[in-house]
Amino acid sequence: YGKLYLVPTPIGNLADITLRALSVLKEVDLIAAEDTRHSGILLQHFQIKKPLISLHEHNYAQRVPELIEKLKAGTTIAQISDAGMPSISDPGHELVLAAIKAGIDVISLPGPTAGMTALIASGLPAERFAFIGFLPKKSSEQQQLLSAWQNVDATLIFYESPYRIQKTLSAMQEQFSEQAQVVLARELTKKFESYFRGSLAQALDFVAENEPRGEFVILLHPVPQENTLSEASIKEAVQRRIDH
Ligand code: SAM
Repeated sequence: YGKLYLVPTPIGNLADITLRALSVLKEVDLIAAEDTRHSGILLQHFQIKKPLISLHEHNYAQRVPELIEKLKAGTTIAQISDAGMPSISDPGHELVLAAIKAGIDVISLPGPTAGMTALIASGLPAERFAFIGFLPKKSSEQQQLLSAWQNVDATLIFYESPYRIQKTLSAMQEQFSEQAQVVLARELTKKFESYFRGSLAQALDFVAENEPRGEFVILLHPVPQENTLSEASIKEAVQRRIDH
């Protein structure tokens, strides 16, 4: 059998591709990509010439069995999405599942993914977190999902398009305290990377005043924290270190 490699690609900054990702992409027989045109440009940048085959939500039912046949015949395949890790709010899972069932080795390469990148710089607790990704479109389904996370003592990670940030934050306001802590991580790894940190109420004011542009991760901690980011608490922490 061939092997299935899951290969993360940059979420903005091309320098974030890993050495191993490059060598795997150079060695495989075939690359299954969410969008072959989009990935073609990336591969061209790294001077990688490989046959590409599309694999996305509209063709996986037919494509996955084809790819499994190829893997069984000894073809080694790398799976990539448009950006970041495959399967993370992107196509990939169906192929992984079918490969596992068929007894094919699945090899996951670590690398860029927006949620983790945002989490560790957010200042919100990173010890316990839950990745939620995109909310459902229907308001009733949104509320149902959010209510399940209402009292969870963990940082929640959401993906959202800039056009819906305001609506999504409003939907969150129906389930979470206005004092819930929110971080908006914008344009990670790119030129206009920035973070907004504040309460849910402040985040809503912020997006009302500054039209959201670019790509965003929304992080929310439902349980108001001991204001971990306040100036006073930072001074106290620094003082404690000096005293030691
Ligand atoms: N597979 C990707 C990953 O591993 O992060 C996620 C793909 S999903 C279709 C796209 C969403 O991820 C965007 O709407 C945004 O919420 C988030 N995202 C991707 N790149 C980002 C970036 N550079 N900065 C902030 N958010 C980003």
